[in-house]
Amino acid sequence: MSRTVYVNGQYVPEEDAKISVFDRGFLFADGVYEVTSVLGGKLIDFAAHATRLERSLGELQMESPVAKDELLEIHRELVRANDITDGLIYLQITRGAADRDFAFPENATPTIVLFTQSKPGLANSPAAQTGIKVISIEDQRWGRRDIKTVQLLYPSMGKMMAKAAGADDAWMVEDGHVTEGTSNNAYIVKGNTIITRHLGNEILHGITRAAVLAFAREAQMKVEERAFTIDEALQADEAFITSASSFVMPVVEIDGTGIGNGEPGSVAQRLREIYLDESLKKAV
Ligand code: PMP
Repeated sequence: MSRTVYVNGQYVPEEDAKISVFDRGFLFADGVYEVTSVLGGKLIDFAAHATRLERSLGELQMESPVAKDELLEIHRELVRANDITDGLIYLQITRGAADRDFAFPENATPTIVLFTQSKPGLANSPAAQTGIKVISIEDQRWGRRDIKTVQLLYPSMGKMMAKAAGADDAWMVEDGHVTEGTSNNAYIVKGNTIITRHLGNEILHGITRAAVLAFAREAQMKVEERAFTIDEALQADEAFITSASSFVMPVVEIDGTGIGNGEPGSVAQRLREIYLDESLKKAV
């Protein structure tokens, strides 16, 4: 069935949606994006995604073509028009179309596109029960990973490397330390302590990360925001990832070695429950 998508102020059937071949998102990956999950027809962590979008745009001297409250209305309208119960809303804003030139154009109008992906049972994925397997790969992305740009080629290659190795995802390593997963933040648990890389330009500041760490602290769990190595991860009791689409997902194997007892850990499972319960309460 054809979806209704949003393109530059209009709701149109997906086959009628058009973007210029001169769009800088297409030519230069000159654009940013957000992915917000929908559970039970409601948006999870919407305000935080909107805030991060503003920041990404600001870092690239781009302006949002729509106001924050308008953005919420567009998200809601797409959920309604496409009858989404569980799924994702993808939003992309680019600098717009201009004659090809490396310098930013002076007067381009930003392009905005949103579309939905229906994922019935998103919060009950079987992988949450079994856990996922990751491999480690070198982090070969650019240095401003805190900006959520659409340059996703290396993460995409990382997923393919994982697939080729019979794993589900890859954790990226820079200067001997794990930065993050290809599309998620990475964590290990040792004893009662949750360890995840500190914020900086080296990782995306995950919206799910911020929420999960806040819930962990509220639940009196100890959190250390610092870099860790793959060796340390292999000695950990548990590992997991977080993202808007996977929530909290246990990791049971790294580079072919089982973590802890090789089963999803209790901290990851508990955080997943808390995150889902609490975010659903606040969903809009
Ligand atoms: N890191 C990277 C590189 C990502 O692509 C994502 C998801 N887009 C995340 C972390 C997780 O961020 P969030 O919790 O906001 O989905």
